[in-house]
Amino acid sequence: MYSKNAWENYKDRMTEVMDFGEDYKKFITLCKTERLAVKEAVRLLEKQGFKDINQFKTLKTGDKVYAVNKSKNVASFIIGKKDITEGLRILGAHIDSPRLDLKQNPLYQDTDFALLNTHYYGGIKKYQWVTIPLSLIGVVCKKDGSTVDVTIGEGENDPVFGVTDLLIHLSKEQMKKTAAEAITGEDLDVTFGSIGVDSEDEKDTVKQNVLKLLKEKYDITEEDFISAEIEVVPSGKARDYGLDRSMIAGYGHDDRSCAYTSLRALLDIKSSEFTSCAILVDKEEIGSVGATGSHSVFFENVIANICEKMGKKDIYFATHKALENSKMLSSDVSAAYDPLYSSVNDKLNCAYFGKGIVFNKYTGSRGKSGSNDAQPEYIAWVRQILDDNKINWQTSELGKVDEGGGGTIAYILGNYNMNVVDAGIAVLNMHAPMEIVSKVDVFSAYEAYKVFLTKM
Ligand code: MN
Ligand code: MN
Repeated sequence: MYSKNAWENYKDRMTEVMDFGEDYKKFITLCKTERLAVKEAVRLLEKQGFKDINQFKTLKTGDKVYAVNKSKNVASFIIGKKDITEGLRILGAHIDSPRLDLKQNPLYQDTDFALLNTHYYGGIKKYQWVTIPLSLIGVVCKKDGSTVDVTIGEGENDPVFGVTDLLIHLSKEQMKKTAAEAITGEDLDVTFGSIGVDSEDEKDTVKQNVLKLLKEKYDITEEDFISAEIEVVPSGKARDYGLDRSMIAGYGHDDRSCAYTSLRALLDIKSSEFTSCAILVDKEEIGSVGATGSHSVFFENVIANICEKMGKKDIYFATHKALENSKMLSSDVSAAYDPLYSSVNDKLNCAYFGKGIVFNKYTGSRGKSGSNDAQPEYIAWVRQILDDNKINWQTSELGKVDEGGGGTIAYILGNYNMNVVDAGIAVLNMHAPMEIVSKVDVFSAYEAYKVFLTKM
């Protein structure tokens, strides 16, 4: 099936492809932060009979369990027929996406504007984030232990926010700068309000007024921003893209397109020989670090927990045997070939829209540095099974040699000595506020993930 057109392959299943696109659009419209993605994943898992692992004293074949880590990271499993030490089939995707985050002391007034300071998260082209409608989504954690959920900008009648940019008429100096310098990180401040009437005894009344509104609506104070996690993300729904509705425009395809297809694959299989797993992680865009990132011991601890509940005597040995014998698809997106910027790709080794799930043997930069570089034996095995099941797939690398580069979570799980290869969906405009994917590629990834969990 190498490089064949996936639309051709699925022409008799168009309704399924399009319907899956609808489900996916709902997911990314709803899940613009890690926390919302975890919340929705848990809702979908419970609907399908999965239960929190803490509700089980023992585990046996067929049990469906999930474990949540600090609201931002979830691992879900169907216990297989084979002993867990024979390995798992793991799909791993990340649910964090590039964006702007509010700083800890974000609010200030300048003339008659209240503004919010931000610090961008992940790799962005800063000029893409100005003059577009933005939403504020996240949580404010208060000293009394309560957490306030905030979502402003997503409802039909909600106000939206934005970062201003200089009018063209006065941009003579700005236009001389490079694209990297035209908008700086400190320029990415969000306009927050403008009503205020200063008097003799009252200053900064625009700021005071927005604080009053925050107090009324959310019962939060200015100091509460210190323990908040508010993400500034593109506002609005994911939409069909193209006259033929073949594509989806939306925020966060990287990597929620792979997160959703991986999760759906696990939700939609009945049972499996090997224990099946979908893990959704945080912090990939900033190096997979910290408690909820892929480097965290959370996943290893969950596997140990499962081993314990399966009655393993030597938990350390069982856990590491299970991980070592596992096979994983690191479900992450690839850069799609863009006809407007063809020069950055090697045409024989790049991903195209409509050609199915993309395998990246390696990522990295400057001589594959930092890359997982999968075993060819493993890739041969994956090829065989995808071909047997008539699933479109293609191979890619991230641009021409020395053109740039990037990474995924593949090498981190690879450190357990398991076989891992990157396998995901081609994306146009990656890391832009509006990313694009092909519906048939999303569907083919979902099909491939199901086959991986059940047939491999
Ligand atoms: Mn990614
Ligand atoms: Mn990314």
